[in-house]
Amino acid sequence: MPVDPAPAPEQHPLLEVLTAHGARADRLTHVRTFDARAGITADWPTWADPGVVEGYRALGVTRPWAHQVEAADAVREGRHVALATSTGSGKSLAFWLPALTAVREPAPATVLYLSPTKALAADQLAGLQRLVAAIPDGDRPRVATCDGDTPTDERRWVTEHADVVLTNPDFLHFSMLPGHRRWARLLRGLRYVVVDEGHAYRGVFGAHVSLVLRRLTRLAAHYRPTFDARLTGPPPAGDRSLAFVVASATTAEPAVSTGRLVGVPPEDVVAVTADTSPAGRRTFALWQPPELAGFERSRATGEAPTHDDDPWALPDPLDPAHTAQEAEPVLTTRGAAEHPRRSATAETADLLADLTVHGARTLAFTRSRRGAESVAQQARDHLRPVAAGLDARVASYRGGYLPEERRALEQALRTGELRGLATTNALELGVDISGLDAVLVAGWPGTRVSLWQQAGRAGRAGAEGLVAFVAREDPLDTYLVTHPEAVFDAALEATVFDPANPHVLAPQLCAAAQELALRAEDLAAFGDPLAVREVLDVLVARGALRRRPSGWYWTHAQPAAAMADLRGSGGRPVRVVEATTGRLLGTVDAGSADGQVHDGAVYVHQGATFVVDRLDLADHVALVVRKDVEHGTWSHEVMEIAIDEDGHRPVVGRDWGPVRWGLGPVEVTSQVVSFQRRRLPDMQVLGTEPLDLPSRTLATTAVWWSVPDFVLRAAGVSPEEAPGALHAAEHASIGLLPLLATCDRWDLGGVSTELHPDTGEATVFVYDAYPGGAGFAERGYALGARWLRATRDAIAACSCADGCPACVQSPKCGSDNAPLDKSAAVRLLDAVLSHAPAEPTIVR
Ligand SMILES: [Zn+2]
Ligand SMILES: [Zn+2]
Repeated sequence: MPVDPAPAPEQHPLLEVLTAHGARADRLTHVRTFDARAGITADWPTWADPGVVEGYRALGVTRPWAHQVEAADAVREGRHVALATSTGSGKSLAFWLPALTAVREPAPATVLYLSPTKALAADQLAGLQRLVAAIPDGDRPRVATCDGDTPTDERRWVTEHADVVLTNPDFLHFSMLPGHRRWARLLRGLRYVVVDEGHAYRGVFGAHVSLVLRRLTRLAAHYRPTFDARLTGPPPAGDRSLAFVVASATTAEPAVSTGRLVGVPPEDVVAVTADTSPAGRRTFALWQPPELAGFERSRATGEAPTHDDDPWALPDPLDPAHTAQEAEPVLTTRGAAEHPRRSATAETADLLADLTVHGARTLAFTRSRRGAESVAQQARDHLRPVAAGLDARVASYRGGYLPEERRALEQALRTGELRGLATTNALELGVDISGLDAVLVAGWPGTRVSLWQQAGRAGRAGAEGLVAFVAREDPLDTYLVTHPEAVFDAALEATVFDPANPHVLAPQLCAAAQELALRAEDLAAFGDPLAVREVLDVLVARGALRRRPSGWYWTHAQPAAAMADLRGSGGRPVRVVEATTGRLLGTVDAGSADGQVHDGAVYVHQGATFVVDRLDLADHVALVVRKDVEHGTWSHEVMEIAIDEDGHRPVVGRDWGPVRWGLGPVEVTSQVVSFQRRRLPDMQVLGTEPLDLPSRTLATTAVWWSVPDFVLRAAGVSPEEAPGALHAAEHASIGLLPLLATCDRWDLGGVSTELHPDTGEATVFVYDAYPGGAGFAERGYALGARWLRATRDAIAACSCADGCPACVQSPKCGSDNAPLDKSAAVRLLDAVLSHAPAEPTIVR
């Protein structure tokens, strides 16, 4: 079914809107057009259940796309399948067709579907129910969601009758697997496990989920009827009782990450990556906000001459990635940069308003919750004078809103009642919103995989879409907006997680042992048996597990699963509640509550400001009072880092001549100690107040390099300059590591010091902001030369005189971006790199 793209005009008509008919053309650094792609269809597979095929036909799918059939065939054969194609390429048909076919066959078969959030499972259920209802005959598969919110009666029905159960990994971990006896029917018949949005399982979350899936596989094998060759003959050739289908965004190495996720070698995974669905033409613009003439002018126009909207705002925790608390708390002020640029938030708000005026339906992705609120607010302010009611057609969307509120916003955008929605990455996954006219991406979303996921919301077959990436003023964004090849032509990232992380493995082994005692022959399913055995020995020594001749047992009364926090969010989220009415406004994840909803913090919800009256850490609640204020709050954190020689892993090191590299466990201690009120929008400090909050300890993995004094002196870095040189190098290297690892700067923290007690030298540390680590520091260690070269080049290439947010300033610095010495940092990095091996080490 080839699709004819409409005769394309030379350029996307909405590009005219972006450039304001040329007036803003200088902000456009690059435009790339991606041609429309015709679709390739295939015949329905002969094995497919005719009723299910009829159902699809009734929903308007006359013929499947070729990649859907390729994947469905492999699923049908019982192979593990990695399906990695673009947003909207119809991944669900590839697994529902074989799954529902199996369910409708005489032998009992059940299917489990997992999505990273409850909301996405609910969306998937709605689509599946439409399909099931369209199956003509009466024998329709029984499909249901089951999660923590499902009432007991309904849950009983699901355990006893459902053929297809849609849930999330948390429910699997906390409820279904520990209560496996109640789920024996489902487990006995389990034929397929669908893992949707597979790329969401990265970092600590990915490591946990991979082990949850291994627990699931073990239990399914336990319940599976054994074939007794004497009675029934051997199982049919090629029939595997349980096959996994991992559907994900387009990523690198899908077979490798799928194999790691489900616990099989990559060669046992069939990867389907050729997308044969049609796509409309897509125009992709790279955009750099303009330089501001200076503080005076920006004040006159009402703009803060500051760095991007919100140094403190954290990525949205709906993204399973941990919300990193950066090492350095900070108050970002524009430093000595002589050419400050307008913030990506203000710029995106303008573009969103202009697109809204022109009737375009637009999603604006921001990097933070506060950014989403701020873009929507500013766009509404622009629209209010234009036409009555136009401002009401723009809203914000983020994690932390209540589900009803989110559903209503999604629906309003689908119907066109809303034209513009400023959102965090909460809308990046699953939610069925696509075919929009334009997508604005304010700030690099962290990975190319995420960028394309977000971009995929714009345009669909036959409809042309416009995407604009609006650079924030930071080293990575500035680099990318001027290096289009790094955006469009570089390889996509692979999904990185480490199931061998002992901080993850230990609680997962306890959970597994509680489900069924762990036997020696089970260990290989959880990783390298020797490493697993080591973790078990520690657990026995600590009294967590009991060793008996037959295996390892959990003998405590409390549930073992409670030991593991799948999302690494550091505990229960804090509820934000209006004190006078008891109304629940939203939630803040535990890890960022200290910094975001401390006493006196300003909390913004749909444009309304609230002030936190009291943060009650014991009850996980922040009581807030509605109050119009003209200031924002920025908290201040102090921190220390110590190398843990007796940690969960040995410290490893290597030398580049006198430069010493290290990788290993560290303990990072941090404490939010005070906050500042700053007047908006000019950021003038109104006052500082101390806070009385506990200190937090994070045991994680860091990469570091240290240099003796003589190297600093030889590089012409004086003792006075050293702190600024190291600090600047640390900031820029945190900014650049995401070029090499699947993380963004929020996943990392850093510390620099001219004398660290553990190394005895000047040292720069960069660590993973996850308990146990997430594999990012290891990438930095493995690719050290490439990493520091890119860091050095980014600093040296920046046209500023003394350092700016595009090179060495950090939006998260705890010491107010001081001291920073840009030129000394370049000299220092040159000296360090002069000792590097000639060829950069290429390590995959
Ligand atoms: Zn600069
Ligand atoms: Zn700093």
